[in-house]
Formats: sequence, structure tokens, C-alpha cells
Amino acid sequence: MEIRIRGVSKYYYSEGKTIKALDDVDLTIPANQIFTLLGPSGCGKTTLLRCIVGLEMPDSGEISIGDDLVWSKDRNISVPPEKRGLGMVFQTYAIWPHMTVFDNVGYPLQVRNVPREEIRERVAKTLRFVQLEGFEGRPATKLSGGQQQRVALARALVGEPKVILFDEPLSNLDAKLREETRKELRAFLGKLRITAVYVTHDRVEALALSDSIAVMRAGKIIEIGTPQKIYFDADHRFVADFIGRANLVKARVRAVEGGLTMVDCALGAIACQRRDVAVGSEATLCIRPEFIQVVGGEGKAGPNVVNGRIDSLVFVGEAYEAEIRVGDELLLARIDPEAKLGEGDAVSFTLDPAHCLLVAV
Ligand code: ATP
Repeated sequence: MEIRIRGVSKYYYSEGKTIKALDDVDLTIPANQIFTLLGPSGCGKTTLLRCIVGLEMPDSGEISIGDDLVWSKDRNISVPPEKRGLGMVFQTYAIWPHMTVFDNVGYPLQVRNVPREEIRERVAKTLRFVQLEGFEGRPATKLSGGQQQRVALARALVGEPKVILFDEPLSNLDAKLREETRKELRAFLGKLRITAVYVTHDRVEALALSDSIAVMRAGKIIEIGTPQKIYFDADHRFVADFIGRANLVKARVRAVEGGLTMVDCALGAIACQRRDVAVGSEATLCIRPEFIQVVGGEGKAGPNVVNGRIDSLVFVGEAYEAEIRVGDELLLARIDPEAKLGEGDAVSFTLDPAHCLLVAV
């Protein structure tokens, strides 16, 4: 079910100050996708999610879920959360410790006075789906963190919601469990074909889970795209920088020729993937560390060949992370542990224009 958000702003008032948590947000979340709101702490992700759920009232704008207008400031429409047909999974799971797994999952049906036999069937079906069959009688606290998370997911799904919303649901798990649970969640959601809205500030989680990512800053959506588009082909410097490690170098556009845009920068004249930017304008050249593949010694002059020197080298397991000094720039690169290179060595690398991305300053 599609979610449409139009002109939504939200202010908070605290200690005599006004905080603009959402700034005129327009957003369409497509049906049956995993759609992630990603951004730094305080950018408004949770506020936007809470506005969709109905736990916050926006100060302007409209929100529709499928064909239902659930919020309109101008038309004075405010559908309460329990009538919006949504399921929600929180960071803290919010499962009840004094109840069994069965009672936790069945609770949303119980409060709707669903007949007992139907509750039994639907809980059993949902527990099967999240692979917790046989755990019905277990007190909810006597489960691992990952299993508790699945109970929370089951409880959100048991009412067969049109949309499911997640607010940083994995952030209480340790790194390894978080990775496993992320995979499980992706598989569960893939099977369900349901609209899922997911809030996180963890870029790896966003990349691994999402069909689409909306990157937010200061109450606004900055850019929306697939994980690949956001990582490899962002339009904005903020987005390119936030989604992964990036070398960002100031550049000036020299020419746009064929499939390439040529820039002058501290690395020399560099051919980049084509961006239609005005000749003479300033831009930022973005190069991911994994695309800087250094070889020892000085390179023969040629297109996109850059010479530098290893400033520092740190072993991180699967690779060395090196800082390469090129003039005044320090570039982060990954170096094969087999390469016999050390700090102070002269190195060179050739940049593939396909991996030289120009973003707005
Ligand atoms: P995080 O990742 O840290 O949870 P977020 O992106 O979800 O952050 P929000 O929780 O939506 O951000 O907050 C957006 C802004 O609104 C922040 O500046 C926050 O301090 C402020 N804010 C949120 N809730 C309230 C509130 N109840 N009262 C006052 N200010 C609030």
C-alpha cells in the first residue's frame, strides 16, 4: 500500500525554543517495498515515522495510506493510530516481560475481541512464519535478543497490517546478531510483499535491507534512490559522504565531452562519469576508498594516473587502510595485505572515470 506525504511540517517547543523537526516534507513511499529513512541523529526520521503511525500530529500537510486520507490539517482529519491498519516494531521491542510468547503475539487480537480459536490459529501461523514454532508457552524474557525481536515482529504482523513500520529495531542487538537478524528480516519481508518503512541511522543496515533509501537532513529529504544509486551515484555531497567512506576533493569543471566530465583538482586533470554541470563551476569529486587501487612506484603519466606517497598504513584484517598524500590532499585507500608497501613509499593509481563521481559542492 502506497503512503503519500504532502507538505508535512512538524515543530516541537522546548525550553522556550522552536525546533523544526520536519520541514515541508513531500514523499511517496511505494507499495510493497522496504523503504528506509536514513540520516544522522536528530534529522527527523522518528518524527516522520510517528506522524505516519499517528503518534504525532503534524503542524501542516496531509498523509494518505493507500486510498485513506489519515491526516489533513486543512480538512481537520486525524485517524487514530489503531484505525490506520499499521504494525509497528520498536527499538526496545516493547514486548511484555510478564507474558508468554503466545500472549505477547496474540495481544493485538485479544484487544480487538477476536474469538479465542481464531487467535490461536493466527498466532500459530505467525509464529511459524517467524520460525518460533514451539515457543508459545515460553516467558518472553527467556528468549535471546534475536528471538525477542522476532516476537516483536510477529506481534506487529499478527493483525495482518497493510504497512509495517520499524524504528531502529536492531540497534539493541550486538553486531553479529544484528547482521543475522537483518538477513532474517529481509527474508521475512521479502516473503510478505508488504510496505515496510524502516528508520535507521546505520548506513550498512540501510544498504543491506532496503529497496529504496531516503536520506534526510535537518527535517528534509535530501535524496531518494536504490542503495546502489545512493552509494555509487549520489547527487549530493552530504549523501555521498553519509552513506559510506568517501574521498571528497574540491574540483572545477573544465569540459563536458561525450560520456565524460573533465575536472581540474588537486589530483590533476581527472575524467569523471558524465554529469551535466556548467563549465567553470565548482563541484566535489567523490572517490570511494575501494576504487583507489595503488601500485608501488611512480606511474607513467597518462589519463587519470595519480602519483602520491603513503602517509600512514593501518592493518584492519582483510586489507590495509592507507592514507595517500597527493599534494595537499590525503586520500583514503584500501591496500591488499599481500602488497609489499610501507609508510613513505611512492605509489600510483589510475582512477576509472566510472568511479569518479561529481557531486554538488
Ligand atoms: P535519532 O536517530 O537520534 O532518533 P531522529 O532523526 O529520529 O534522531 P527525531 O527524534 O525525529 O530525530 O527528532 C528531530 C528533532 O526534533 C530533534 O532535534 C529532536 O531533538 C527534536 N525532538 C524530537 N522529539 C521532541 C520532543 N518531544 N520535544 C522536543 N523536541 C523534540
